[in-house]
Amino acid sequence: MYSYTEVEANKYVLSIDNHQEMMAALRDFCQEHEIFAGEVRGIGAVSEATLRFLNPATKKYVDRTFSEQMEIANLIGNISIKDNEVYLHVHITLGREDYTAVAGHLLTATINGACELVVEDWPDGYLGRKFDEETGLNLYEI
Ligand code: FE
Repeated sequence: MYSYTEVEANKYVLSIDNHQEMMAALRDFCQEHEIFAGEVRGIGAVSEATLRFLNPATKKYVDRTFSEQMEIANLIGNISIKDNEVYLHVHITLGREDYTAVAGHLLTATINGACELVVEDWPDGYLGRKFDEETGLNLYEI
């Protein structure tokens, strides 16, 4: 599903295999290494991605799937813990063939090409989350 190397203490370079679902692979990696506080960033390419937009007025999520070859121009996110499980909050900017971009909160992405991530583990930190009624979001509990 992926390969990785620890380039310095608590900092990993992670390569996700072709055709894998990136978020599932990243979640597995974090679970395997017990990373419950940290950061992720990366680049790569996908053939499909589902993004999510929260309408703050209605507190309703709108999900949309883009099924086309796109570059991960930028991926950035954080790693925390909710209900004793890894909780990923990841945003992505995807470049299309016509050089326009789509962007948003990332739910799933199927790799088609490479996916090169840097994962930083903050082993002494604790980042919990809790549902917040006012925003409809799972906010940090800090
Ligand atoms: Fe988000």
